[in-house]
Amino acid sequence: MPIPVKIYITPFAEKGVLEPVKWDCDAAKKALDVVNKIWSKAKITFVINDCLTDRPLDMAKNARGNDKQVLDVLSLRHAADNAIHVYLVNPIPNLSAGGGSYLHGDPEPASFVQWYGNDFASGRAWAHELGHLMGVDHVEIDYTNERQAAALSSNLMTKGLNVGSELTKQQIETARGSKLVKRFGG
Ligand SMILES: [Zn+2]
Repeated sequence: MPIPVKIYITPFAEKGVLEPVKWDCDAAKKALDVVNKIWSKAKITFVINDCLTDRPLDMAKNARGNDKQVLDVLSLRHAADNAIHVYLVNPIPNLSAGGGSYLHGDPEPASFVQWYGNDFASGRAWAHELGHLMGVDHVEIDYTNERQAAALSSNLMTKGLNVGSELTKQQIETARGSKLVKRFGG
């Protein structure tokens, strides 16, 4: 069963001045295709349950670099229901992470994802955040171990900006056994 995702396209504003939004529902659909391609290795599929434009989030630019704060504010906007809540936001220049997620989907499964200029890069960041929602943590690359570094540098769950989309067997098992996948039967 595909896991339902409720999408909130959330414009940023600063002191009442609205910023033009980079995402739209069509871009979200294309980015989710990238997400599904990546997670198909674990036989997990996500489906858009709804795509809405949310009321603007008025937040000073220099406050947006705190990913936990951004996610806290966003995730409080909508009560938990029977879908993952994904907030799609404009690029945040001072945030190195692609977004933010509650690691184990508690109190509710919620993530935010930045726009990265194209469907693929944005979808890849989205897939990474959903990985966190399924209990998959970051991989730590040990650069003194060449073989391990080579194997993991193309992994989806490396920290920071990356283009990797690979998953290890262990990561697939973790995701498939996660509370989220069990709850929705993905
Ligand atoms: Zn991460």
